[in-house]
Amino acid sequence: MKKILILVAFILCASLTFAQNNYFFPSGVTFDPTIPTPEQFLGYPIGDWHTRHDRIVSYFQELARVSPKAHFQIIGYTYERRPQIVLTITSPENYARIEEIRKEHLKLADPSQSVNISSMPVVITHGYNVHGNEPSSSEAAMLTAYYLIAAQGDEASKTLRDAIIHIDPNYNPDGRDRHTNWANMHKGFPPVSDPMDREHNEVWPGGRTNHYWFDLNRDWLPLAHVESQNRIEFFHQWLPNVCTDYHEMGTNSTNFFEPTKPIGSENPVVPRSNYDQLNPLFAKYFAKAMDEIGSLYYSKENYDNSYPGYGSTYPDIHGGLGLVFEQASSRGHVQKSSTKEVWFAFTIRNHVRTSLATVKAGVENRELLLKHQQEFLNPP
Ligand SMILES: [Zn+2]
Repeated sequence: MKKILILVAFILCASLTFAQNNYFFPSGVTFDPTIPTPEQFLGYPIGDWHTRHDRIVSYFQELARVSPKAHFQIIGYTYERRPQIVLTITSPENYARIEEIRKEHLKLADPSQSVNISSMPVVITHGYNVHGNEPSSSEAAMLTAYYLIAAQGDEASKTLRDAIIHIDPNYNPDGRDRHTNWANMHKGFPPVSDPMDREHNEVWPGGRTNHYWFDLNRDWLPLAHVESQNRIEFFHQWLPNVCTDYHEMGTNSTNFFEPTKPIGSENPVVPRSNYDQLNPLFAKYFAKAMDEIGSLYYSKENYDNSYPGYGSTYPDIHGGLGLVFEQASSRGHVQKSSTKEVWFAFTIRNHVRTSLATVKAGVENRELLLKHQQEFLNPP
């Protein structure tokens, strides 16, 4: 009897995992069953709740505990003493010589050094939720980390062999928790989609900003705040080739990815090749990822790279590729737009798919990105 119960529990567990993975991830991928999904760890399907920062931290610690592909570190603390964390994902072989790889990568910035680009991994930093009340991306960070660690097969192995992937799930932990508590404490049962409902209308100052109500997506250059100082210190330890910056926009919109608008918004310090070559190249991967799930998207119509204090522009002026993503917000668990109900899980899925597409594009264009950085940092 006991054995039958265990078998039933296992089948139930496996089918729930399959259902969640089936929604968020591309089809045809098998997953290592020893790696817990976010749902298994947290106890609820992703999208049912807004996950508190401390739970995200615990999940990342668990991934590092169970997998030799994941490594956890604290890079600093916010004003409210929340840890700022990075999970580094790569093959165990790469991690065994991670310091050597890092030092070799930094030689790209040194004209006196020669490097062999053909054997170097590409460095990708995924950054989420700098605006605390744009919460879908930190949930997407957990799913993205799970996917990269648990996916099995040749493509997954090649990805971790050819890339060092850093995931910072929450650039603004204090702001995120301010909004997370708001959304969870006002959740209805069943959830209420009326835009006028209190759940969808935070009181001032809201979760966008940090403890001092400062917009951290304006602070990459001034570095007035401790979260930015910690993040930039880590940035310069690695000089990533690709750096993502995940956001949300109005509920009535769709999904935006770069290129940003070309008229009146470009920065002359950003190399032309970012605008003309790399952005259009990566956009093809994002469009394909969105087409696969029938999600609407656009680019070029708005958003800009004019200010180096943005998280999507600062990397551009260090030989990398900064990428801003904007997803229509459910601002709460579900909210009616002018055309449909926007569910939290739907917004999360779009960010998961572009996160995975970024890694794919980074790996497939590894040498191009490394060469681009070397040429930018060592002008003739
Ligand atoms: Zn934003």
